[in-house]
Amino acid sequence: MEFIIRDVLKNCPICDSHRIKRVEGTVKRKIRRKVIRIPKVIYWVCESCGEKIFFPDSLKQMRTYVKQHADLETERLQTS
Ligand SMILES: [Zn+2]
Repeated sequence: MEFIIRDVLKNCPICDSHRIKRVEGTVKRKIRRKVIRIPKVIYWVCESCGEKIFFPDSLKQMRTYVKQHADLETERLQTS
């Protein structure tokens, strides 16, 4: 499960832990039985329960990336 936050996070929405940190990394998404890796996504991660919490901007960035890559796949299939 993934959570979306609107502003600065002070504790984890799952376990209420304060051990959360802001990270930038690659996030994997499964689209149509295919795994797409989205680089440079900024999100919060809870060190207590391992939950990832995403910003609305990050989700938008991820959707855009996935859409672009899904389109590339479709084009490749059509031309071959
Ligand atoms: Zn937690």
